[in-house]
Amino acid sequence: MSARIIDGRAVAARLRASLAGRVATLPFRPGLAVLLVGDDPASAVYVRAKDRAAKATGIATQTIRLPAGTTEAALLARIAALNADASVDGILVQLPLPPHIDAPAVIEAVDPDKDVDGFHPLNAGHLASGRPGLVPCTPLGVMTLLAEADIPLAGARALVLGRSAIVGRPMAALLIGAHATVTVAHSRTRELADECRRADVLVAAIGRPGMVRGDWIAPGAVVIDVGISRLADGRLVGDVAFDDARAVAGAITPVPGGVGPMTIACLLENTVTAALRRRGAAAGQKSETLPLTSQSP
Ligand code: NAP
Repeated sequence: MSARIIDGRAVAARLRASLAGRVATLPFRPGLAVLLVGDDPASAVYVRAKDRAAKATGIATQTIRLPAGTTEAALLARIAALNADASVDGILVQLPLPPHIDAPAVIEAVDPDKDVDGFHPLNAGHLASGRPGLVPCTPLGVMTLLAEADIPLAGARALVLGRSAIVGRPMAALLIGAHATVTVAHSRTRELADECRRADVLVAAIGRPGMVRGDWIAPGAVVIDVGISRLADGRLVGDVAFDDARAVAGAITPVPGGVGPMTIACLLENTVTAALRRRGAAAGQKSETLPLTSQSP
């Protein structure tokens, strides 16, 4: 058996096209501000990709580049100004921040209604308690992939490998919301391979190249690989040993071309969602009607 490949590039392209069509009908342009502090090369690449994708969707973007020596107070002042700017619907602070800046304090300074990364504790709390809010982009992208691939989640045994605040925990909350029976595994989990083998849906987000082997996967299971690691030879690989896993799984995401493209597409979705929530009523638009949304019933 060879698993069906869940093509994240294709799903992300459809989501972006659908968002662009939606934005074109709005009487306003959603606004996104991206703050980049310092000159981390990987962050610069991500920020450029976000800016390009947002512009292609019709979102008004501004990238604010600040020097590495920017003080926390100066960064908080920039965020306060963006919070007060009615033309800005989404604010994203690119992580990681330089070590002299307290990242949690910065995340908490963003207006939760403009928190398109979904990292603010208020949005995390809403998600944990099953209430609407802005949801972190990567797990939101995983839910969209599962929905687009018609993977049944109600009653399914789901295992989330990893418990970070940006991927594992929100992923588990979304799967619970979709009525899966969810286990969260991490570095202290005993008999990890056995835990994985029980899963109908396995989401790996640990950053350990190829650690999830083919014999950790139940025949026919759905495998979503969030991990991205660059090997010494330059190749990008996931947390799952793809070739072995593909021979056992029912469906699987590749790396690259699986979850990765969904993260930026979902940032755009969150920006449009935030804009509609903030201005939808005033503009006579209905919110919560985006196509390709990821919440299962
Ligand atoms: P993280 O904050 O480093 O968290 C890693 C998680 O994996 C932790 O919960 C850790 O357990 C667990 N873990 C580490 N080694 C383990 C092991 N040997 N066995 C079991 N669990 C283990 O990472 P993250 O930010 O969640 O990211 C995870 C991966 O996803 C990375 O490769 C990252 O690059 C990728 N990622 C991809 C996207 C995308 O757009 N596709 C977005 C975000 C992240 P403890 O909690 O016990 O330490």
